[in-house]
Amino acid sequence: MSSTPCYSALKERILKDGKCLEGGILKVDGFINHQIDPDLLEQMSVEFIRRFASVEFNKILTIEASGIAPAIMLGFLLHLPVVFAKKKKPSTMDNMLTTSVYSFTKNRSYDVCCSRDFLKVGDKVLFIDDFLANGNAAKGIIDLVKQSGAELVGMGFLIEKSFQHGGEYLREHGIKVESLAVIESLDNCTIKFAK
Ligand code: 5GP
Repeated sequence: MSSTPCYSALKERILKDGKCLEGGILKVDGFINHQIDPDLLEQMSVEFIRRFASVEFNKILTIEASGIAPAIMLGFLLHLPVVFAKKKKPSTMDNMLTTSVYSFTKNRSYDVCCSRDFLKVGDKVLFIDDFLANGNAAKGIIDLVKQSGAELVGMGFLIEKSFQHGGEYLREHGIKVESLAVIESLDNCTIKFAK
C-alpha cells in the first residue's frame, strides 16, 4: 500500500466525476483522460513533489498518451525534461529501446519504444502515469530503463487499483511507488478507496 493516505482532492473528484465501467475500469475522462483539469493536475503534481522530495531525479518518464499531461505538469513545476515512451515506432527513429506491453483495457500487446538519446546511463528517472492496474505498463518501463542503463528512482501514479496487484509487484521488487488515490474495489460499480 502507499505510504501516505489517498490525496483528498483527487479522491473527492473521483467520487464526484468518476464513472465505473464493467470489468473493473474507472472512467476519469472528464478531468484526466480526455478533458483535463489543469488546476487539479497542478495540485497533484505538487503532491508528487512532496512525496518524492527525498529522491533525486533529473528526468521524468511517462508513456503515451494519458501519462503525458501529469508528467508535463510535474516537469514544468520542477523545470525538468519529460520523455514519453511511444506506442508506435516512428519511421524517423533509430537507436531505439523497445519492449512489449500487454494492455488489459485493450486486451492486446503493443510495442513501446524510446530513443537511447533521451534515456541513458547517468539519468535518474521518475516514472509518472495516470493508472496503475496490473502493472504491465510499469513492467515495460522497468525493462526500457534497464536496457538504457539509466536508474529508475520511483514510480508515481494518479490512481492505483490495488485489486489488480501491480502495486504489490512493484513494491515487492523494491521500487518506491506513490499513488495519489488507491482504489480497493470497483465491485458492483461502487468506488471503494483503500483509505
Ligand atoms: P497496467 O499496465 O498497470 O495493467 O494498466 C495501466 C494502463 O492501463 C494505464 O496506463 C492506463 O492507461 C490503463 N488503465 C488501467 N486501468 C484503467 C482504468 O481503470 N481506467 C482507465 N481510464 N485506464 C486504465
